[in-house]
Amino acid sequence: MEPAGALPRSCSPALEAAEPPGSPALPAEERPPAAAAAQEARRRGPGPQGPAGRGTRGGGGRAPGRRGGEPGGRARRPRVTVDSSKAKTSLEALKISLRQLRWKEFPFGRRLPCDIYWHGVSFHDNDIFSGQVNKFPGMTEMVRKITLSRAVRTMQYLFPLEYNFYPRSWILPDESSFFEKEVRMMKDRDPSWKPTFIVKPDGGCQGDGIYLIKDPSDIRLTGGLQSRPAVVQEYICKPLLVDKLKFDIRLYVLLKSLEPLEIYIAKDGLSRFCTEPYQEPTLKNLHQVFMHLTNYSLNIHSGNFIHSDNVNTGSKRTFSSILCRLSSKGVDVKKVWSDIISLVIKTIIALTPELKVYYQSDIPAGKPGPTCFQILGFDILLMKNLKPMLLEVNANPSMRIEHEQELSPGVFEIVPSPVDEEVKVAVIRDTLRLVDPQKQKKKDIQPQTLEHVSDTKEEQMDAGPPDGLEHDANRNADAGLPSLCLKQVFPKYAKQFNYLRLVDRVAALFIRFLGVKGTTKLGPTGFRTFIRNCKLSNSNFSMASVDILYIDITRRWNSMGIDHKESGMCWQAFVEAFFCLAQKKYKSLPLHEQVASLIDFCEYHLAVLDEKRLVCGRGIVERRNALVTCQTDGLQLTPAAHTSLLNSMATANKLADYRNHQ
Ligand code: ADP
Repeated sequence: MEPAGALPRSCSPALEAAEPPGSPALPAEERPPAAAAAQEARRRGPGPQGPAGRGTRGGGGRAPGRRGGEPGGRARRPRVTVDSSKAKTSLEALKISLRQLRWKEFPFGRRLPCDIYWHGVSFHDNDIFSGQVNKFPGMTEMVRKITLSRAVRTMQYLFPLEYNFYPRSWILPDESSFFEKEVRMMKDRDPSWKPTFIVKPDGGCQGDGIYLIKDPSDIRLTGGLQSRPAVVQEYICKPLLVDKLKFDIRLYVLLKSLEPLEIYIAKDGLSRFCTEPYQEPTLKNLHQVFMHLTNYSLNIHSGNFIHSDNVNTGSKRTFSSILCRLSSKGVDVKKVWSDIISLVIKTIIALTPELKVYYQSDIPAGKPGPTCFQILGFDILLMKNLKPMLLEVNANPSMRIEHEQELSPGVFEIVPSPVDEEVKVAVIRDTLRLVDPQKQKKKDIQPQTLEHVSDTKEEQMDAGPPDGLEHDANRNADAGLPSLCLKQVFPKYAKQFNYLRLVDRVAALFIRFLGVKGTTKLGPTGFRTFIRNCKLSNSNFSMASVDILYIDITRRWNSMGIDHKESGMCWQAFVEAFFCLAQKKYKSLPLHEQVASLIDFCEYHLAVLDEKRLVCGRGIVERRNALVTCQTDGLQLTPAAHTSLLNSMATANKLADYRNHQ
């Protein structure tokens, strides 16, 4: 690779998709509001709260130099209210975003409900019953290294080719002997295979506790592995290098809604560089973290770390600057983007089933509660052959826009980081624009204007400029702001990925039989009811066998010590039981067809059951209505009967679907 200085300013058209919103080369007055507002905040210097509280307290309410009203005396729409009291380290970027949007910030919370609650860490806040929270319940648990590996592995069982973007992984200590056995087998099969593995403690972050090994026997069993489980993963030995350095990509992804699934990807991210030239792992260099681990938090301590004063150089750059360089070398960056989008959508499809289990437990259907959205940080490594590989997903990606700089030995100063600011402020601001409750209201009135589902099945995906429609709908409210940096990829590309959403349907079955709302584990009665209602028991598979299956699988999963708070069958155990039943019932098919067939079978029988209950229910309602009508002439259809009618249509559709499928 050429030195960064050789980067051409303008890139090929293909790259436009990845170009960051705004360019550092622009003069100040033409700069997008992100940079200009941030500069304004810097000029004002640190506030009374230290780095996190810089800027005016509560100053998010007004844009600098403005009195808050619309120009020209236009009628003001009520300002969106945001509770930022729990924003923690994302506060600075949030404040800048709110100033740009001219929304009303409540930095110390508010007694009245707010439209949006911005949390720095997790969903939990018992006092929120309405509005929107920027975290999903259960997301932090869901993206822990072990849970993520399990979720992806389930999808790898079903769709091995589609999910080959995640390195082969084993969970320690549960699968220690399996890990050893598998590696031995693979080495026997291919003696030239000289693998390296990376051991990553569960729940760790910032490279904490990570080390490389050449052989399963090198795992450090001392130091309490039992108390700190980990994931061991095949190490990707041939990463793409820039300036001879390994780097990874941090991409920001907005999960705007779980049901229906809506995903957006930021068209720019960050590239974090190692600080020692890369060499393939050998016993000699295995311990050199500055060569093998790209974590910013580690490399910042290297003497070679270069603080970037623009987006194209240094140890942290924008991803678009990397794509720009690749494009100038003739790389098909559209294909790289398309592969990354596919990786993101598939990963979220792997996460959603269990996330729905957590969601119904914290926000049971029918009870008042907020809706959720969340910005996720995807860590991706590009291999030498440009294939993107998923390293991990962060539920709380750092939204800091400043860093510590050592002025003299032991003396640190907090200074702004233009690269972080450029990318992160745009991500927060545009997330807020997308979840703007006032736009949501408009969307509810005109749903068809905001969504565009791609018709072509094999279309190459891009995160290019926003769809005209989407843009138009936002134009008035967003006057003066740059175009959205977040691009919708789902449902836009739903047609290419919907076939992968099998486990979501298994989750719907699991949730239906959880019974008491607010739990995440299925009791033995719930499991029996599932078997009975779905007509899965017969002369070959007695209810006694059902109980044995339940006890066997539940006991094994519970002994892995994931969650001892509740007893019963956890989600992963149910998935295993479901796959087991599918294999039993549809012996000769490939696994994903077995599972799909069993889902169809279960959904069909449940639809029949719902239909029967509906008829009975309708009979009762009709009898009751007849009675009431006799008493009060001309009474309207009761809400219960109305709901039944809607359910009846849904059931009829399900039955028709099943029959067509057959
Ligand atoms: P953490 O949450 O502690 O940052 P990661 O899973 O992101 O843990 O791993 C830390 C770093 O290790 C990554 O940024 C990457 O540079 C490197 N890394 C992780 N997994 C692999 C892998 N399978 N192959 C090569 N490098 C990896």
